[in-house]
Amino acid sequence: MSCAPTHLTCEYLIDPIGIDEPRPRLAWRISDPQQTAYQIVVDDVWDSGKVESDQSVHVEYAGPLSQPGQRLIWRVRIWIQDGDESPYSEPAFWEAGLIGNDQWQARWIGPDVPQEAKAYTDCRYLRRTFDAPAEISRARLYIAARGVYEATINNAPVTDDVLGGGFTTAHQRIQYRAFDVTDRLSKGENTLDVALTGGWYCGWIVKNTRPDIYGDRPALIARLEIEFADGSRDVIVTDESWRIGRGPVTMADLYMGENYDARREVGEWEAPHVEPMDDVPLSAYRMQPIRRVREIRPQTVTEVAPGAFIYDLGQNMVGWCRLRAAGPAGTTVQLRHAEVLNPDGTLYTENLRKAKATDQYTLAGDGTEEVWEPRLTFHGFRYVEITGYPGTPDLDSITGVVLHNDMPHTGSFECDHDLVNQLQHNIEWGQRGNFLEVPTDCPQRDERQGWTGDAQVFAATACFNFDVATFYTKWMIDVEDAQQDDGAFTNTVPDIYQGAPAPGWADAGVIVPWTVYERFGDTRILERHYDAMARFIEYMGNDSESFIRPDVGYGDWLSHDAFTPPDLLGTAYFAHSSDLMSRIATVLGKADDATKYRTLFEQIREAFNNHYVTPDGRIVGDTQTCYVVALQFDLLPESQRKAAAARLVWDIHEGHSAVWPYRRRNTHLSTGFLGCRDLPHVLTRFGHLDLAYELLLTEDYPSWLFPIKHGATTIWERWDGWTPEQGFQDPGMNSFNHYAYGAIGQWLYETVAGIRPDAQRPGYQHVIIEPGPQIGRLTRASATLETMYGPIASAWELRDGRFELKVTVAPNTQATARLPDGQEVALSPGEHVLECAIGCG
Ligand code: BGC
Repeated sequence: MSCAPTHLTCEYLIDPIGIDEPRPRLAWRISDPQQTAYQIVVDDVWDSGKVESDQSVHVEYAGPLSQPGQRLIWRVRIWIQDGDESPYSEPAFWEAGLIGNDQWQARWIGPDVPQEAKAYTDCRYLRRTFDAPAEISRARLYIAARGVYEATINNAPVTDDVLGGGFTTAHQRIQYRAFDVTDRLSKGENTLDVALTGGWYCGWIVKNTRPDIYGDRPALIARLEIEFADGSRDVIVTDESWRIGRGPVTMADLYMGENYDARREVGEWEAPHVEPMDDVPLSAYRMQPIRRVREIRPQTVTEVAPGAFIYDLGQNMVGWCRLRAAGPAGTTVQLRHAEVLNPDGTLYTENLRKAKATDQYTLAGDGTEEVWEPRLTFHGFRYVEITGYPGTPDLDSITGVVLHNDMPHTGSFECDHDLVNQLQHNIEWGQRGNFLEVPTDCPQRDERQGWTGDAQVFAATACFNFDVATFYTKWMIDVEDAQQDDGAFTNTVPDIYQGAPAPGWADAGVIVPWTVYERFGDTRILERHYDAMARFIEYMGNDSESFIRPDVGYGDWLSHDAFTPPDLLGTAYFAHSSDLMSRIATVLGKADDATKYRTLFEQIREAFNNHYVTPDGRIVGDTQTCYVVALQFDLLPESQRKAAAARLVWDIHEGHSAVWPYRRRNTHLSTGFLGCRDLPHVLTRFGHLDLAYELLLTEDYPSWLFPIKHGATTIWERWDGWTPEQGFQDPGMNSFNHYAYGAIGQWLYETVAGIRPDAQRPGYQHVIIEPGPQIGRLTRASATLETMYGPIASAWELRDGRFELKVTVAPNTQATARLPDGQEVALSPGEHVLECAIGCG
């Protein structure tokens, strides 16, 4: 008898409430090696019957379309090779959302104060009190905001999610959440309260750059459906019956911080400003929400000036601090946040630019200890300065509260080199800090935008460390929402920064869905955005001169002493996106399109060679990144690849700085955001694995380990964010939590530990295990990855001239292991130990 399936999910989520997908996809895990058939039963509305198939992920629900709010309970059983059938799984469910604005019957309510061109940093409280005449059997709250909100019912939070509201192109789409609030309500009087502020809608984060983009004031829309035990129903919606007032939060903004006066209660309640429902779609929130994911206790506290205390949390993190204090009423405690310190131990905040990142709490002073944390802002920081504290604060006076979208942690990488392990740690923390509503460039300064270039270079790494399928699924909808009329994808999504679509940035619109497909086996993301991607490719063609892209964009952003021509990068990325488009068309069974895009790729490739490549394989620009993109994207004829790789290697060793021509690179990289991700892959592929290791293990500047030698706990924006000689780089652009260079993580997993997806059987239905040990570098490395099928692991060790590899293959998948001596071994689910002599290959 085989075992019942486990880990049932719908649209990647466990028992989700509020699903707008008419055909949600179901998945489960099995513990037997191979599934041969399955049967899904969804209440009494759909029975798939026995389906002969090994598919256990992304199985589309094919029953009748659900009604708004309908809960569907499902189970699944499977058959395995010898015909054995499993028992049914434990039940799981999903609940349909409201599906369409007309279901709401609610209106937008909020403050009546347009604040033209100035960010909205007030906070308003919206309240509705109502009577529940009987015991409550079921209650659902549907809620959305133009802005950021926190909702409570009878003074208890509706949810442990925070920063409700979210970031989308708000004139095109707004997300709503659905909550089961049955337990929050009780018979008798109930009060629903919502604190509302500008957030991503009209706070500084958008007003900073595009004052006119969405609107002037925040607003709330909500629908509370209540069913009573006696069978009756009631519906409460936002309308003119609500009341609005000011309360303890006197200021709240994502960049600036939050001020809370605990002495204040909401005084006057007034009628809200009411607007009708419009036709901007309210879409169900489809990812794991933002939560308080962990807490950090400070390591030290130092009084740097009388009454000014600096805390070190030991980790550059994103979130806020919980404060504990007792003292006289009216005492205001101030918390300022920073990533780094000045040499004199005070906060260095210049790199936050206009973001004040300052919270203030004014004590109620009721004689007891008061515990407070902000809820309508977030900061990126490692250090906190407290002033105004009544008495002397100690290590328990604050706690760091880490926030991000609560994506499950799925990957680990480890080896016998402490600095490389710290690099992996920093990459993960860079991801934690920048996966908050959209993939951001950085979480601390007055920016925090969904820069598409950063997102695409980091996407594959992100898919190893955490389950980001839902996060990118949502963001790709944003990417398409932001697409320009001419077909161009944008440089930021939502598009706050505008500007001509940059090579390697706009291409995220093709690269990210492909990455999600490779790593989660998700074809729907390809289908859904196929037309948008096709329009983008067409745009690039129209905007090119005989396939050569114009000289626009950010080049190889933040490269070190090297200039790679933007038009060359543009043309290379145009080729790459066309190549991916051809593969995407193949996956979707669009054979003609596949041929069309393959031909386009070849035409661009030819143009690239004619325009940029000399007969002996030199590339215009002659930078490391020129060779990296040309080789990584297969742009050069076979005959010239070796020479190009040799030139790349030459530049790493012998090349000279473009800025200081007398300065030899002396075995250092010069790549920026774009070149950096692919550099180690290209070196590996063209026989220079040892050099890739050497770059990885280099400790002096520029290198991945240089910041770590200087205490970094996240990835820096710049190779030289701080140097002993120069101190801090230009504060205009010097974040200490920017994940882009963390894209090396993909190489750690794929090449050092050796876990790679196979696009032919994506989502790790077939996994390639091909570690790249190198004598004299590391003696062991290992990685694990929790896939949709279950865990995969690869762990190797070099011992006494032997290479030993332990592999875990997830159920219902297969693996091919490639050993350093050239052996190729097919592996079935389970644990395996393989070995060979090293160096004999
Ligand atoms: C951001 C980057 C982004 C870049 C575009 C910067 O301000 O922080 O990460 O990709 O602009 O050049």
